[in-house]
Amino acid sequence: MSMRELVVLGTASQAPTRQRNHNGYVLRWDDEVILFDPGEGSQRQLLHTTVTASDLTRICVTHFHGDHCLGLPGTIQRLSLDRVPHPVAVHFPAGGAEYFARLRHATSFYETAELRVEPIEADGQRIALSCGTLEARRLRHPIETYGYRLVEPDGHRMLPEKLAAYGIAGPAVGELIRVGHLDLDGRRVTRDEVSEPRHGQRFAFVMDTGLCDGVYALAEHADLLVIESTFLESEAALAAEVGHLTAAQAARVATESGVRRLVLTHFSQRYPDSRRFHDEAREYFDGDLIIAEDLTTVQLPPRRVASAG
Ligand SMILES: [Zn+2]
Repeated sequence: MSMRELVVLGTASQAPTRQRNHNGYVLRWDDEVILFDPGEGSQRQLLHTTVTASDLTRICVTHFHGDHCLGLPGTIQRLSLDRVPHPVAVHFPAGGAEYFARLRHATSFYETAELRVEPIEADGQRIALSCGTLEARRLRHPIETYGYRLVEPDGHRMLPEKLAAYGIAGPAVGELIRVGHLDLDGRRVTRDEVSEPRHGQRFAFVMDTGLCDGVYALAEHADLLVIESTFLESEAALAAEVGHLTAAQAARVATESGVRRLVLTHFSQRYPDSRRFHDEAREYFDGDLIIAEDLTTVQLPPRRVASAG
């Protein structure tokens, strides 16, 4: 299967620390390489990974607080410096268009890269990609904020031994997938006879929000959920006041939504010991739990096994 993984550039909220760069994440998903929320220093963090600026196909910004977008000027200029040959799509809350325009043209540079600017205008906006659907959902934060999810449709996995048994090979396989059946010497072979159902995979990215319907809509059955847990429960009142989640809330969302692999990130600098996020989340979530660290890679878990029928 093609590569599907999350590359973590930074994990700090608000202010970077000696251990944590400002936020920033890259999702590799088949032919899409999507940069989410590039905070300050993202361009340099990329140098420590296997992703280059020229690999990027798309940039998604959840909102225009600095820790989620101050990396845009450097990253955008780098696209032109490196003469990226393909267009790069950019999504962000439409209400923040003025901030985007300023960041994009923060300084003088020779612009050669083609940016396809497609702001998110409404809750539930969908963007069709070759590998699935990118969907934006409104979140609850003091300024206009959208989380994103990438949903691959369910499909079929062809079974080579069954294809071989019927002598089906080459272009006939494509026709069978497309049409749903194939007539061979007077006998009809259906797609279901030579394939099994294949669950589509889901990735969700939930940043800077209090608990709201959008959080659950994004997290639903995610194979990999990246979600902010700025605070611990000891600061739950403060978290609610400023539009953020605690580790316990994020973990409960993951459990209630059937998430398989949970990545907590966007940590407040007030907690030097990140094991506390793990311990708190573990009380509410018993799936794969990862406390994000800068410059680490998290794989999408293997596909959910399709249930019979
Ligand atoms: Zn924010």
